[in-house]
Amino acid sequence: MTEKQVIFTQQLRLPAIGQGTWYMGENTSRRRDEVAALQAGLDLGLRLIDTAEMYADGAAETIVGEALNGRRDEAFLVSKVYPWNAGGQKAIAACEGSLRRLKTDYLDLYLLHWMGDYSFEETIEAMETLIDQGKIRRWGVSNLDCNDMQTLWQVAGGQHCATNQVLYHLASRGIEYDLLPWCQQQKMPLMAYSPLAQAGRLRRDLLSNTVVNDIAHAHNASAAQILLAWVIRHPGVIAIPKAANVAHVEQNAAALNITLSASELMALDNAYPPPKGKKALDMA
Ligand code: NAP
Repeated sequence: MTEKQVIFTQQLRLPAIGQGTWYMGENTSRRRDEVAALQAGLDLGLRLIDTAEMYADGAAETIVGEALNGRRDEAFLVSKVYPWNAGGQKAIAACEGSLRRLKTDYLDLYLLHWMGDYSFEETIEAMETLIDQGKIRRWGVSNLDCNDMQTLWQVAGGQHCATNQVLYHLASRGIEYDLLPWCQQQKMPLMAYSPLAQAGRLRRDLLSNTVVNDIAHAHNASAAQILLAWVIRHPGVIAIPKAANVAHVEQNAAALNITLSASELMALDNAYPPPKGKKALDMA
């Protein structure tokens, strides 16, 4: 079976499922499990690890650094800069802080976490400086809607943006209307965060939904695996579920090999219809 991959460049292809880290590092009693889960993911080829200076105030990056001890080269490491640090010397200092906590000397990808304090021009300049300094390999953005991406594309250097990381799961499909087709047109991979809807009512609805569970049963899989297979059905979409539990990580890796049939996709469309018009970008 061939697992699904996402093409960043001709030289860089990654499995279409990576690993998130939000809420890791919040509680020291869970540290060992979190490190073990990330390492299990790496063992299974889930190379992309997504973190941020925001998560647990940097402690998630420390967990990732621990998980990567002696195996940095196996990972494609992504971190994110706060909007209020995304320009000038603040960006350099923020990146250096992330590198220190991650115990590495470079990031594979550095993302603007969301739009805010600095202009695109200032953020791009800082990102290019970090590339010149060898501290990051490439940069991207997060939580930008289609019109923001189009604005970014008009700015000098904006088209070097490597990805946009946005919320996407079966119960939140707004990006299918415009942002996702636009990214695909630019041949720019899109990173789907909260692919399992993280918490709350939506997550409970999705995991207990009869259609989702019938399809899971047919694939001898879990509902969560079907949700992931659904997110990565599009070319160029990489899902980054967070799992601090090795059994979850194993399931998530196995979801790379699940292909949903046309009739299964139609049944899911009926249960959770695609957008008929523009919706504001979802962030929670
Ligand atoms: P998520 O991945 O949708 O959900 C995480 C939850 O799902 C955790 O409770 C996890 O439990 C559980 N889980 C994982 N695998 C499972 C499985 N196979 N079966 C059942 N449950 C499973 O939510 P998320 O953390 O919000 O999003 C993923 C990542 O995206 C984040 O960690 C972060 O890296 C990134 N993110 C980025 C932004 C942004 O603004 N750019 C925003 C949100 C998230 P266990 O931990 O117990 O395994």
